[in-house]
Amino acid sequence: CGIVGVINGATVAQQLVSGLRNLEYRGYDSAGVATHTGSGIWRHRSTGKINELEQSLASVLEDGPAGIGHTRWATHGIPSQANAHPHMSEGIAVVHNGIIENFAKLRDELQSNGACFTSETDSEVIPHLIAHYQNQGMDAIHATRAAMSRLDGQFALAVLFEDMPGTVLAARQESPLALGYNEKEALIASDMLAFAGHTDAEMHLGNGDLAIVRRDKVIILDPDFKTVDARWTENKTTG
Ligand code: GLU
Repeated sequence: CGIVGVINGATVAQQLVSGLRNLEYRGYDSAGVATHTGSGIWRHRSTGKINELEQSLASVLEDGPAGIGHTRWATHGIPSQANAHPHMSEGIAVVHNGIIENFAKLRDELQSNGACFTSETDSEVIPHLIAHYQNQGMDAIHATRAAMSRLDGQFALAVLFEDMPGTVLAARQESPLALGYNEKEALIASDMLAFAGHTDAEMHLGNGDLAIVRRDKVIILDPDFKTVDARWTENKTTG
């Protein structure tokens, strides 16, 4: 339902939670965040309201330079903590909006290759597919692109990798996803209302495009790995 991502090289949890809160109006049944702590990925998920997520985060939080968050509106699998996003496999955390139509077939294939599923969602095939291609020797970007090419349906994704502390990959097919930045942060959101008032410039990611988002640089690749010019719309500044 709602996706946020923040890369700022410092701590991101506060911004993730406030971004998710700004997307609450769209409705959701559960929420979660994953942050890169600098040495690994830390995940926290809960059913219920963002306020509850924030309160439980306060006692256990592992913060870091990049993170992703999600509000879920269940399509496959009941609302529960295990089904809440981010979903993870082998040091890869994924938040997903939309529906993967061919998830059952992909799950069977991945399970027969040894993948261990912990949710009932369609979304969980995505981190397992990316891990599968990484295990075949692909880097994070090629593995994500290879996974995308296997997915039928609609998706917007933000992906965090254990071995890339300051980077989030963002990609979409038939579901909206936008990028933004200010002098301290690169931002990702399914709807930039999540970060209203916090962006100096924004853009909508093109259909089928994959963005490599770092704090000070965004590279956008089309399905043929050609670089796409980022068309930023600058916000008018006051004063
Ligand atoms: N289909 C996914 C699920 O049920 C994502 C739903 C959403 O867009 O929130 O977890």
